[in-house]
Amino acid sequence: MSAESGGRAERPLQQVEPEGDQQYFESYAGAEVHRMMLADKVRTEAYGRAIEALVEPGMTVLDVGAGTGILSFFAARAGADRVYAVDQSDILSVTEELVEVNGFGGVIECVDGVAEEIELPGKVDLIVSEWMGMFALTEAMFESVCRARDKHLAPGGRMIPGAIRMCLTPIEEPKLYDEHGLGFWKDDLYGFDYTPMVNAEIADLDTNSVEGDKAQALAPAAIVADIDCLRDPMEDYWFEASVDFEITRPGRLHGFLGHFEAVLAPGVVLSTAHDSPMTHWRQSWFPIREREVDAGDVFSLHFKARKDPTGVDPRKPTYFMEGEWRRKGDVVDKFFYCHHGTYE
Ligand code: SAH
Repeated sequence: MSAESGGRAERPLQQVEPEGDQQYFESYAGAEVHRMMLADKVRTEAYGRAIEALVEPGMTVLDVGAGTGILSFFAARAGADRVYAVDQSDILSVTEELVEVNGFGGVIECVDGVAEEIELPGKVDLIVSEWMGMFALTEAMFESVCRARDKHLAPGGRMIPGAIRMCLTPIEEPKLYDEHGLGFWKDDLYGFDYTPMVNAEIADLDTNSVEGDKAQALAPAAIVADIDCLRDPMEDYWFEASVDFEITRPGRLHGFLGHFEAVLAPGVVLSTAHDSPMTHWRQSWFPIREREVDAGDVFSLHFKARKDPTGVDPRKPTYFMEGEWRRKGDVVDKFFYCHHGTYE
């Protein structure tokens, strides 16, 4: 097998330690990040619809990572009796003011702390959380949500989101290919041949969030993980899957776009696909070495999502992509790539 990427050894999973996570919570202390999320109407309105559909008068709701409290406000407006708005970030002092200004002081209680560590007077009927980072897994906040679920959710309780589907699409997108590095080395630079730099680039690939709305799909999107947020254990989010893509038209394959779909409530699906309305997550770009493909070619992929195996940042995933490319049944090439997750 031609090892295309600088394969970093996998290490056992490290836990995200809530106590040693000061920097992470500081990144949520200012207004800008919350403005960006609230300005994302596709995201916020989908949560609003789901909460409206699932909250019934009398319910007790836990909002994991309340931020400025928007999901708690939706729950209170939908008739919840009690809402615990939990956040470990300093933004919570403003959230307390927002709760008062909006007249929800009797319903919403702001709790300063880590959701999986705090104690509540009883179990809750519903947990709502907007925990998804880039390609959902960046930030690994789902680990906190799973622990909070196991600790605080009453039997028969519900979760928003109730499921997360992770998807990949093989695409032709020369502009992204050039802008994000690999394509840059194709042309002469100042009259010199720099093409060997592609190998250096491939040895250190990142997956960035991009606007993939100009991308041409070369095969339909495939689901690589379908996670039940109510029942599946935390470990299942660090998924691996094998999938075959059958190319539907001739073109140049530049990489894969990753997106997720969050099933917030029955019939309320928040999709971050490149052909859905754009959200602040945009799409995740997994570049590979460019190649000319034909209709009928098959890409068999084994895809793995793992915590940063270097141990530098347990909130950053690393993705391993291994597989082969076949034409009329013959193996044309085998490949291995490793992409490092980023926060942007
Ligand atoms: N719910 C808000 C904010 C989402 S951002 C909205 O939809 O706009 C995620 C928030 O979760 C951040 O404010 C972060 O500080 C908080 N958070 C992350 N992990 C947490 C944990 N384990 N316990 C409490 N809050 C957490």
